[in-house]
Amino acid sequence: MIDFSFTEEQELFRDAIREWLGKNLTMEQVRENDTNHEIPLDFIKGMGDLGLLLLTLPEEDGGSGADWVTATIGAEELGYADISVAIPVFYLVQASWGYVINKLASETVKDEYIRRATKGNGFLGIGVTEPGGGSDVAGFKTNLKPTDDGWIINGEKCYISGTAEAKELDGGYFVSGYNNRDAGHRGMTAAFVPINWDGVEITQRFDNMGRMAISTGGFKMTDVEVPKEYQLGETNRGFYNTMEGFDAARVLVSASCIGAAERALELGMDYLKEREAFGKPIAAYQGIQFDLADMVAHHEAIKSLVYRTAWMLDQKYETGKFDALETAKYISMCKYLAPHHALDTFRRVLYWMGAYGYTKECPLEMGMRGVMSYCIGAEGSANIQKLVIARESLGRDWTKTR
Ligand SMILES: Cc1cc2nc3c(=O)[nH]c(=O)nc-3n(C[C@H](O)[C@H](O)[C@H](O)COP(=O)(O)OP(=O)(O)OC[C@H]3O[C@@H](n4cnc5c(N)ncnc54)[C@H](O)[C@@H]3O)c2cc1C
Repeated sequence: MIDFSFTEEQELFRDAIREWLGKNLTMEQVRENDTNHEIPLDFIKGMGDLGLLLLTLPEEDGGSGADWVTATIGAEELGYADISVAIPVFYLVQASWGYVINKLASETVKDEYIRRATKGNGFLGIGVTEPGGGSDVAGFKTNLKPTDDGWIINGEKCYISGTAEAKELDGGYFVSGYNNRDAGHRGMTAAFVPINWDGVEITQRFDNMGRMAISTGGFKMTDVEVPKEYQLGETNRGFYNTMEGFDAARVLVSASCIGAAERALELGMDYLKEREAFGKPIAAYQGIQFDLADMVAHHEAIKSLVYRTAWMLDQKYETGKFDALETAKYISMCKYLAPHHALDTFRRVLYWMGAYGYTKECPLEMGMRGVMSYCIGAEGSANIQKLVIARESLGRDWTKTR
């Protein structure tokens, strides 16, 4: 028998965050963050106090051992509150990549960087994309050269979320590079690279079109000495560790997009009931109702897929009921559908609002700019999701990329 209900604990978690966000993250505050290009530090600390940051980590490492469905609820609620998705990015990158980093990290990295990040005194990010491209993970140029005590890393990462926040909060990044190019993707190894270490230099902050409150930047690693205890996981497993991080992140990205789209629909429906044209509220016109019905139907279908997939991810970790590839197919379906659905919803609701929708008095343009980052590519482009879906549907032989 199928039971689609959340546990009591999950419902309480949702209520607690929604209440806290209702008080601490109003739409006016979201606009202020977007305009000032920053997330206030006291808000980040507040997230830490509430137990929102890195909640997926075990309790002994500062998290609450939250399952992926619970983390997905968090991502959805944050997307609902911050439709620009800047704060959701700060949350979800850490809940997902932070989970993988922590799972693979030594006690030294946990002590130095991870535990304090759970309180908002740090930042754990993902540095995969390079100037030459982000989709082809196995084509990256970053190199790890062995030393007696670890590795020397050289390479450059760009379009990386949270570089300014990582600098300010003394955080670091999951970085993967080649230790043995001849072995292809089986010759990659991951490491945790603190942003303030010698040899690590932030190259720039990009002037993005959306999610303005969180930085997107680049960093260069020149002869960075990384001791063995900063290696993440086994040698030669870097590619696979990277894929594990993407999987978790993509579910949460999808949930934040769903949360943002839900808020857009609510704001839109309020407007439709108030605004009159030709003597009656716009909501009374079937032309508008059909548009709404189409969006609501897609919304509920994709939201169900997202929670089903979060549940699959929990099953993958807890019972092994689903393997990584089966789960990845569903994850890519979410990551392909949810951001585009959200972008489409923002655009269509904005049309309902006429000229007002085209102004910055209306919050919706922040959402449109924000969710588009997830259509374009953050945590993997749409075509890469399609490649995964096709690969897991047709079979690997049909979809070889090299
Ligand atoms: C706001 C923002 C934040 C980001 N944050 C991070 C971060 O924190 N860490 C990080 O590592 N990266 C981050 N990224 C980068 C993101 O992961 C990349 O944008 C993404 O992986 C795509 O890489 P690319 O932009 O280099 O595009 P490319 O890889 O150059 O691809 C360009 C286009 O070609 C398409 N394409 C590529 N290969 C194929 C193929 N085989 N078949 C069909 N089409 C193909 C892609 O879908 C895309 O449309 C961020 C991006 C954005 C926009």
